Amino acid sequence: RRPPKSFFKTEPPDMDTLNFANDPGHVIEADRAHVWHHISQHKAYETIDPRIIVEGRGLRVWDIKGKEHVDAVSGGVWTVNIGYGRERMGRAISDAVTKMCFFGGALGTIPGAQFAEMLIEKMPGLDRVYYANSGSEANEKAFKMVRQISHKHYGGKKSKILYRERDYHGTTIANLSAGGQDERNAQYGPFVPGFIRVPHCLEYRSQDGTLGEEYAANAAKAIEDVILAEGADTIGALCLEPITAGGGIIVPPSGYWQRVQELCRKYDILLHIDEVVCGLGRTGAWFGYQQFGVQPDIVTMAKGVASGYAAISCCVTTNAVFEMFKDDTDKLSYFRDISTFGGCTAGPAAAIENMRIIEEEDLLGNSVAMGAHLSGNLHALMDKHKWIGDVRGMGLFQGAELVADRTTKEPMDEKKVQAIVADCMAQGVIIGATNRSLPGFNNTLLFAPSLIATKDDLNQITEAVDQAITRVLG
Ligand code: PLP
Repeated sequence: RRPPKSFFKTEPPDMDTLNFANDPGHVIEADRAHVWHHISQHKAYETIDPRIIVEGRGLRVWDIKGKEHVDAVSGGVWTVNIGYGRERMGRAISDAVTKMCFFGGALGTIPGAQFAEMLIEKMPGLDRVYYANSGSEANEKAFKMVRQISHKHYGGKKSKILYRERDYHGTTIANLSAGGQDERNAQYGPFVPGFIRVPHCLEYRSQDGTLGEEYAANAAKAIEDVILAEGADTIGALCLEPITAGGGIIVPPSGYWQRVQELCRKYDILLHIDEVVCGLGRTGAWFGYQQFGVQPDIVTMAKGVASGYAAISCCVTTNAVFEMFKDDTDKLSYFRDISTFGGCTAGPAAAIENMRIIEEEDLLGNSVAMGAHLSGNLHALMDKHKWIGDVRGMGLFQGAELVADRTTKEPMDEKKVQAIVADCMAQGVIIGATNRSLPGFNNTLLFAPSLIATKDDLNQITEAVDQAITRVLG
């Protein structure tokens, strides 16, 4: 295989275009006055200038003041898997929307059919692609499928959906009802009934002190205990992230996933895997679940599908799930769901090109190789800084959990974790951290750079983290 390399120029872009007719001040004031930013305290509007990102190339972005940043989190929320500034993505989208921008409802489009065929080829055992626009929306589709299957085939009884502590599935009320991060849920109740929580599987924070295979068995047994307590005949699906992402980069212990699969088969429970983050190469395979040898019934995906060049998400199912909606005698028995913008061609056209780029440049291989390098760098930092209690991840998806004390594993104070993130930002390196999600455990630094990352990029990122930790924690 040809070694992957980034073909992007990294010199700063033209400052005249960057500054929007040389009036960055006006843009900043318009943003401050009228944009309601995602997950931002109002204090932020008053104390700092909003950061307006104007241009990106490879995994570097420039803000409106001309400052260069290395982006270690693929657009903040682990989305831009193929990197910024891909002209062929723009051309693919432009060609598709000029010819046929949109047709919704029951009718199809050429890009929609073409991408579905390409995707299914990467997902042996799965057959049907249902288009939507965001990860939350794709997960809602899956929840609706499970509820309808319960009504059609189990008299409405097998309707409960199990979800896991620390996992996240999206921002709508139903998704928060399936949300294992209590700080995200605070003040948004009441929630939708029928979502039941199972314990997390983070070995570093083993609930019973066991480790390795024994811990994997116990963590899976904890799911079985919930199934038995609720009654298997009331549970329609188990919805899990393959690797818990925003909940602290939790790679399940070896043996866990096999047991989970066995439980689903034993108790006739659909396995819904949320690949919104891990899908499209993040962990070094096309999908996270493929790293663990499991066979899901439903897979949802969003971020990396078109790497943020267009909005698209997919809810992919087996033919067995699809067939459960077949009944030509009952008018209400097919999946009566719709997504207006699921009919946009920009999404699948971008997704086709995105998948081609991942293949042509072997970005899965690069995720594996550079993931190992990033992990090595983080382990070296762990040897140097007693504040790093655990390093974990897979491919270019890595986390470093910070602790105040390695023996007691007391989590590092969230403010100090955020100070490290801010210090990196000041150095021109954008990293992430669990934030406002897990009460008491917002203490993990997160790294998910674009899959084009090189050793030099990763060294720059971890050198900034090294300096930030020394400055903030000593
Ligand atoms: N699922 C997971 C695992 C996520 O991390 C996210 C968002 O970060 C979502 C679902 C929701 O996706 P979206 O923000 O596109 O609705």
